[in-house]
Amino acid sequence: MIQGYPDPEQALSEHFAAPCRVVQRSAVGGGCINNAQLLVLDCGARVFLKENTGAAGLFRGEAVGLDALHRAPSGPRVPEPIALYEDAGRQWLAMEFIESGAPAPGFWEQFGAEMAELHRDTACERYGFQEDNHIGSTPQVNTWEDGWTRFFGEHRLRYQLELARRNGVADGSLLRAGERLIERLPELLPEPEHASLLHGDFWGGNFMVDLEGNAVIIDPAVYYGDREADLAMARLFGGFDGRFYEAYHDAYPIAPGHAERVDLYNLYHVLNHLNLFGRGYLGQAQAIVARYI
Ligand code: ADP
Repeated sequence: MIQGYPDPEQALSEHFAAPCRVVQRSAVGGGCINNAQLLVLDCGARVFLKENTGAAGLFRGEAVGLDALHRAPSGPRVPEPIALYEDAGRQWLAMEFIESGAPAPGFWEQFGAEMAELHRDTACERYGFQEDNHIGSTPQVNTWEDGWTRFFGEHRLRYQLELARRNGVADGSLLRAGERLIERLPELLPEPEHASLLHGDFWGGNFMVDLEGNAVIIDPAVYYGDREADLAMARLFGGFDGRFYEAYHDAYPIAPGHAERVDLYNLYHVLNHLNLFGRGYLGQAQAIVARYI
């Protein structure tokens, strides 16, 4: 990945090993946080560019995560990250532009099987990631840990609970019950067979369909964790057909009892919503915690 050029044209020229000028820019809608554009270059290439003048460091984590997913030996298609620029007031990330198409026959079956293959890889023996990243605009801490329950308790649940305390969106009862839940995690979550490379923000808005009709995963918050965390998040807002889960389970079955752990895994995202969007999510967070303590 090319780094260090403030001007995307310079970085893209180096990437494509030819002088490239942007001949057309058009806005791409749908993003939650950033200004997104399609850049058409005079060499014929089309590039997706995300720009941001706020949250420093937002794109480094995404770029490193895209790179890890792109290099993984198997899994769904991922846009190739091309160039990154960061300074105090402005950052941008350029990646392969994905042309949108319609789902091919067998789309869900293939997508499910590809996610299973992504998760099957056992290359990493610890939980965490080489880089911290963001979940929405909230920092996501990926400090390496040897144990999954310790990782999930410390860097997912406790981190969000502490943030909620500081943001003034959690009451004392949620914080106390949350602490009890973290203590109980070793009983509630089996240690996974191995750490899997996770998308990390695997909801229905974070995949596209390419011109061949196949799924492309975008906008990740990558770390090595229990694959149940990705599958649980897919269920949080819906958008994944039943054939996706069936194909996943056929390819790489999940440990018994996973259905009972879905809400526990999604508590992380509900707490993140509490922090991002306020007390409207307090009741849901309290109900989940109460179920598991
Ligand atoms: P944000 O981080 O602001 O939420 P996303 O990464 O979700 O932005 O991108 C916003 C929208 O841009 C997506 O919903 C999708 O429609 C489109 N998009 C994202 N990545 C690409 C890409 N590589 N090529 C083409 N379109 C993309």
